[in-house]
Amino acid sequence: MHVDPTRPVDYAIITHGHSDHARAGHGHVLATPQTLRIMEARYGRDFAGSVQAIEYGEVVTLKGGVDVSFHPAGHVLGSAQILFEWKGFRAVVSGDYKRERDPTCAPFALVRCDLFVTEATFGLPVFRHPPAAGEIAKLVDSAELFPERAHLVGAYSLGKAQRLMAMLREARWGRPIYVHGAMVALTDLYIDEGVPLGDIRHVAPDERKNLGGEIVICPPSTLQEIWSRKFPDPVSAVASGWMRVRARARQQGAELPLVISDHAGWDDLGKTIIETGASEIWVTHGAEEALVYWCESQGLRARPLHLVGYGDEEAEEVAAPVEGT
Ligand SMILES: [Zn+2]
Ligand SMILES: [Zn+2]
Repeated sequence: MHVDPTRPVDYAIITHGHSDHARAGHGHVLATPQTLRIMEARYGRDFAGSVQAIEYGEVVTLKGGVDVSFHPAGHVLGSAQILFEWKGFRAVVSGDYKRERDPTCAPFALVRCDLFVTEATFGLPVFRHPPAAGEIAKLVDSAELFPERAHLVGAYSLGKAQRLMAMLREARWGRPIYVHGAMVALTDLYIDEGVPLGDIRHVAPDERKNLGGEIVICPPSTLQEIWSRKFPDPVSAVASGWMRVRARARQQGAELPLVISDHAGWDDLGKTIIETGASEIWVTHGAEEALVYWCESQGLRARPLHLVGYGDEEAEEVAAPVEGT
């Protein structure tokens, strides 16, 4: 079997629904029910030959006697770390994860293991994410300060967008939240899965000029497009861990950069590695070398995997056109 394979394989275990991890065309897919729904929403009914849903904590025994179980990764709805157990040896493949609270998915569960395969999207000491609630407060303050301007928030359409909506509700933003058409299907899926997001409305094209004072969530790439210019005097915000880098914020035209990440920052990567108790660490997608170096400084065996085909979804969406969902 393969975890998050980038090419079609006979037996795929999928950690979560982001497009670089969950691809169409596998013979068989084992994933959480939510991840399977997300894949179907993106790729259509026939995205795999057959599928099998597995709940958090449930155990499936593979051919050869390896036990597989899924555990919450706290990254997006349905996201999981995968635990493999064989003759007492425990290996965990984290997928993408975060430790910070997120009202739209199950919280990260620490799983003790011998081998931990970690992501490293923000594996550099510069990436220390501030508490997300403070960033949301900046957005609400700005919307209240400039009631005649529309606030457009660029956010990745799976996970980040819905997390913003839920956090705006926690910050007592009671007005309708408007969304770009590219986000409607996945947002409806979250609501259908029982994530309360309040009054969410699709932006109708001829209504844009009337949305002064409102918050509109859209794919980051649309901030640079004509679509965004029809709003009254728009304030461009972008919600991403990359907003920690000023040059990145400028490049995306973010007047109001919001440092909100769905990946563990530098401190949480290190904390998690230590807490798993693993003596061997494999590092994948992101700043691999820096995290490997840090692990070695802690006396842990570590190596970079140098896998190709995984980008950071947020980074990709910045450069690429809107995903076709
Ligand atoms: Zn992801
Ligand atoms: Zn990823």
